[in-house]
Amino acid sequence: MSDIIQLLPDHVANQIAAGEVVQRPASVVKELLENAIDANASEIKLIIKDAGKTLVQVIDNGKGMSVTDARLSFERHATSKIKAAEDLFQLNTKGFRGEALASIAAIAHVELKTKQDEEDLGTSIIIAGSEIKSQEVSVTPTGTSVSVKNLFFNIPARRNFLKSDTVELRHITDEFHRVALAHPNIAFAFYHNGSDMFNVPQENYRQRVVHIFGTKTNEKLVPVEEETEVLKISGFVGKPEFSKKTKSEQFFFVNQRFIKSPYLNHAIKSAFEGLLKDGYHPSYFLNLTVDPKSIDINIHPTKTEIKFDDEHTLYAILRSAVKHSLGQFNIAPVLDFEHQSSLNTPYDYRDKKASTPAIEVDRSFNPFSDDSPARQKTTSHNTGFKSAPTESWESLYVGLESKGNNSQSDFSQVTFESESKNESIFSDSSIETKKSTFQLQQKYIVSTLKSGMLVIDQNRAHQRILYENFLRHITIKEATSQQLLFPLQLHYTPNETIIIEDLKADLEHTGFVFSELSAKEITITGVPVGVPESEVSIIFEQLISDVENDVPDANFSTADLLAKSMAKSLAIKNGQSLNSTEQEHMVNSLFACKEPNVSPTNRPTFITMAVDDIEKKFM
Ligand code: ADP
Ligand code: MG
Repeated sequence: MSDIIQLLPDHVANQIAAGEVVQRPASVVKELLENAIDANASEIKLIIKDAGKTLVQVIDNGKGMSVTDARLSFERHATSKIKAAEDLFQLNTKGFRGEALASIAAIAHVELKTKQDEEDLGTSIIIAGSEIKSQEVSVTPTGTSVSVKNLFFNIPARRNFLKSDTVELRHITDEFHRVALAHPNIAFAFYHNGSDMFNVPQENYRQRVVHIFGTKTNEKLVPVEEETEVLKISGFVGKPEFSKKTKSEQFFFVNQRFIKSPYLNHAIKSAFEGLLKDGYHPSYFLNLTVDPKSIDINIHPTKTEIKFDDEHTLYAILRSAVKHSLGQFNIAPVLDFEHQSSLNTPYDYRDKKASTPAIEVDRSFNPFSDDSPARQKTTSHNTGFKSAPTESWESLYVGLESKGNNSQSDFSQVTFESESKNESIFSDSSIETKKSTFQLQQKYIVSTLKSGMLVIDQNRAHQRILYENFLRHITIKEATSQQLLFPLQLHYTPNETIIIEDLKADLEHTGFVFSELSAKEITITGVPVGVPESEVSIIFEQLISDVENDVPDANFSTADLLAKSMAKSLAIKNGQSLNSTEQEHMVNSLFACKEPNVSPTNRPTFITMAVDDIEKKFM
């Protein structure tokens, strides 16, 4: 049999490598920015068109390349950054694999312009699909400019796989933030489709964090500084009260490289123990400096994961440094015997008073009497509770009836209420049979059915009701809004603002009114009827977190996500007690829904138990 193994041609090998290095436009952004940093640039400009699908260009004022280097930079395994395998363990540069430019040139149209300071003229190279189209002497400023156009032009499958512009742009901004945060001593500018996304001078770390995450961030930063033989830590953690539902403000940089480390993240979380509400994540912006020998960066093609020699020690140092900072700035309870009661008290219980457990005993209860006082007690309690609101309702409508205007129907409802009240005073047993629901553990609404029993999960049911309501408003575009007395101003990071901008039309259809929606601030002058003003920021935060967490794809409907998210924020929670009118209203509204049996997230809203099943239990 003849030999069948062949060496792959270079352009094929490059395309395969590109599959690992370049997943999306944001990967190109990362590689080009890192090359500019490695070239010691002090100013870097990023220019993007159509979320990077049409153009990603990075211009730096770094050291540039010679004519030969310019040509060689597109060869695979061509790098100026390491010479031998040992060098891998003392890296001071971002790049070292010599793969990025070769990979990018295999799957896009690339134009490179570069000039070294000491030269008068530079070089310009055009390359597409690994093929050099032209190489010329050119007039260009010192430094390098790389333009990457039409990414994946020769791999339609990859191009089709790209997400919407919003999503791709979000990935790009994420990468950009990571690089910009790691290098406050470099000035950055970022333009998308001609508009200015970001522009920062050389500055200190605090200024950089504030520039990226907004002026309000300044007050929430707690400095963390620690220096030991193996590890130097500097940076900030966010005060616990500013913790977020998303993990969008969690940054570790190791030797100025952004990394992901669930293990070290855990160290921070444990330093915050007892200070965070459930489901909230601490913010942190931490720079760790370690001996390059003690880490291995070469375990992942995109270099976002690294291996530490001694993770356990780093964990312990990090945890104690963060704890110390929180304590020092009076955020965490420090060990103080006078205040020991606050120690280890979960955040949300801090200000609650302890209640004395009470057992209610009805001493006059007689199980053999039909007219049991226990019953009387509950019903009279109900009546007493109900009478006040009903009377005041009635007084509201007194004048209306004689005028005979169109509130007639409302009035008749009120009359009906008071009738039932009168009935209850005279005949206790009649209301007992009329009352068709009760609440169990402030979590479930129990109701009787002809065939048995119905148990409704109040939170899920309410989510379903609100969800269908919001969805209807969004689709028929006829929601009513209530105007706010004072406009509400909210501040978000550029990324978060993009998410809200994207949902603006849908949000308006639910009843939100924006008087301003820009990177600097969001001003709201109207909210959907029934949405309390105090809930608005919670709704938006939930919305941002939902969008970020289930990175929407092409067939995702923003309307649906918005309706789900708002329903989740506004639905009655477990633990909330409901009076019988509210309970009945809930049951009726649920069964008026199109899909009453599941919550918006597809969980059951109620269960039923047939009398037969109950009977079986008694056998
Ligand atoms: P790596 O960064 O891993 O070395 P790349 O393919 O990204 O591999 O780049 C190859 C080489 O091209 C680099 O080692 C560097 O010498 C040169 N180079 C790339 N971009 C620039 C730039 N912006 N300025 C100067 N030199 C650059
Ligand atoms: Mg590189």
